[in-house]
Formats: sequence, C-alpha cells, structure tokens
Amino acid sequence: VAKITFKTAKEQLLASNPGAKRTLGASRKAQGKFVSPMLGVQDKQEQQVTETELTDERLKHIDPKMIELIESEIIDKGTPIGWDDIAGLQMAKSVIQEAVVWPLLRPDIFTGLRRPPKGILLFGPPGTGKTLIGKCVAAQCNATFFSISASSLTSKWLGDGEKMVRALFAVARCHQPAVIFIDEIDSLLTQRSDTEHEATRRIKTEFLVQFDGAATEEEDRLLIVGATNRPQELDEAARRRLVKRLYIPLPDADARKQIITNLLRNEKHEVSDSEAEEVGRLCAGYSGADVRALCAEAAMGPVRCVPLHRMAAIATDQVRPVNMQDFRNALQRVRPSVSQNDLGQYVKWNETYGQGF
Ligand code: ADP
Repeated sequence: VAKITFKTAKEQLLASNPGAKRTLGASRKAQGKFVSPMLGVQDKQEQQVTETELTDERLKHIDPKMIELIESEIIDKGTPIGWDDIAGLQMAKSVIQEAVVWPLLRPDIFTGLRRPPKGILLFGPPGTGKTLIGKCVAAQCNATFFSISASSLTSKWLGDGEKMVRALFAVARCHQPAVIFIDEIDSLLTQRSDTEHEATRRIKTEFLVQFDGAATEEEDRLLIVGATNRPQELDEAARRRLVKRLYIPLPDADARKQIITNLLRNEKHEVSDSEAEEVGRLCAGYSGADVRALCAEAAMGPVRCVPLHRMAAIATDQVRPVNMQDFRNALQRVRPSVSQNDLGQYVKWNETYGQGF
C-alpha cells in the first residue's frame, strides 16, 4: 500500500511541477556518468532503503514528497572524504575523532559519562574545510551524510520549512548512523528573534524540538554538525545544544602547501616540492578555498599559452605542464577573501565559547 502511495505522490509532484522531473533526476544523472563497479549494488541498496523507509513506522506521518526530496537533494552520495584529504587542523581532527567518530562507531562503549554530544559546532572563516570535516566524519563512521543549508530552510523551503525539518530528522533516524550537516546554522539559531518572520520562528522551534528529541534512545546514532562563519550571531539556545564548539581557522603555511601538493597530484606540472612550499608561504591569509582558486588559476596558465588558432585541435600532451611562473601570475590575480578584522572576531569568540585551542 505504501508503495502505491509513494508512486502517486511522486506522480503528483511531477504533475504539479513539470520541471521537477529534470530537477529531481539531475543528481542521479550526474552519478550515472560515473562508471563505478559498485553502481549496481548501490542502486539495489537505494531501492531497498526506499522500500524499507516507506514501510517504516517512523515515517508514517511524513509527506512522501519530502522523503523523495531528501533522498535526492539532501543525502550526499559524493566521494568519501578521508582525514588526509583535510590539510592541517590537527587539533580539531583529534577532538572530533575522540568526541564523535569513536562514539558513533562504538556506541556500546561510549555510554553513561562517555555519552557523546548530540551536536557540535564548527566555526571559522568561509572555505576552511568545515563541510569537508562533516563529510569526513560521516565517511569514517559509515554514516549517511545529510547536508542542508539553514538559509535554504528559510528561503527555498520557507512555506514547508517546518515540515522539512521534521522529515529530515525522521529520514535520518531511518538511515542511522547519520550525520546531519547544517551549514549557515546562524541563520536558523540566531539571536535577532524580535524582527524575524513568523515562519522562520516556527522552523526554529521545530528544529529545537527535533534536536532535543534526536538520539534520546541509547542506541540512536545521530550527530548534528552545525557550521557557521558568524558564530557571534548564535543565540544561547544554540550554544547550549552544540556543546563542542571548534574553531576551524585559516590554514597555516604547511597546510597551504599540502593543499597545493594534493591538488597538483592530478595535474601535469613541474612545480618542485620546494616551489610548492614557497607558494604556500606566499599565499599567507588565503583560506583553503582561496588556495584552491589559486591553483585553478595557475592551471589556466598553460592553456592561455596555446595560440587561439590551435586551441580547437591541439593534442592534450602538447599543452605544457603547470609551472612556478603560472603560480606567480595567479598570486597577482587571486587575492585572499577573508579580512584580518573578521579573524579577530573568531579568535575572540573562540576564547569565550570555543574549545580553547
Ligand atoms: P567551508 O569551511 O566553507 O565549509 P569547505 O569545506 O566547503 O569550506 O571547503 C571548500 C573547498 O576548499 C574544499 O572543497 C577544498 O577544496 C578546499 N579546502 C578548504 N579547506 C581545506 C583544508 N583544510 N584541506 C583541504 N582542502 C580544503
């Protein structure tokens, strides 16, 4: 019976929005291009999950349309991230390993006093690896990774935001272990409550109710990871719930070099180790995302050297390798995106509310 309901709902959705088919199918199509030996298995698993979900008691009162949307747009099925993919951040990584990864892996040991926090907060400038960390935690625990931006709840989903929050937690409970990553969490759990929209207030209340209700059973394995560039806007209710608050700062010179080396690994280049180190030193103040943008700009150097009339037909091996001069040029064009003034605010907030490293 449930299956029929699901199909009907899906059809309804497509009928009410003719463009929906393309939107909903888009991520699947992108995945389809990736020829994975696991694909058949994955498809089968996906189908099984959907069927289990539809008969799951916990989803009885959830709109099937929402379940479908969460499955297609919020569950992240991207490449798994390992700790080595994240440069620097040693302290944050080890705290996270102990506070949340082991407990998710061994809930039997982490009970009582060792019971893990339900939620952690990652704060710091944009592009420093907060999302990467969320993905990595999920991959390390073989957990399903749910990723949603809080601002989409109050904009894209506004009318349905409240239902969406409820559905999200319900689906996550069916996919345990699960990590729910909420980007821009400040826009949801903000202090400025006097002026806020009624719908936003209801979404926030629902979120707090769901948060408090999540992982109340001993065997529940659910972790909420909030990320923000504006921790100072979080209210007391948010700070109380996200008990571990970790500062994710800009990468230092070593970490910047590591990001460069990792990114160059897949490119044809002649940048020596000491040159990569020099670039790492020269891009002080860049975020991880800025370093990535710098490398992308440098990688355009060889292409720009190809005369226009040869571009269409040139053989791949005729394009020269990326070199140090490309990086020097790129350093002129790609500038850091985070201001010193912002950094001071993070340090101050970290001293007051952070984990203290
Ligand atoms: P945010 O902190 O805004 O969530 P992301 O985790 O989305 O930042 O990082 C954006 C991109 O920048 C990543 O996909 C990655 O390419 C790069 N990046 C940022 N920080 C790091 C890091 N510490 N190590 C490796 N790459 C990083």
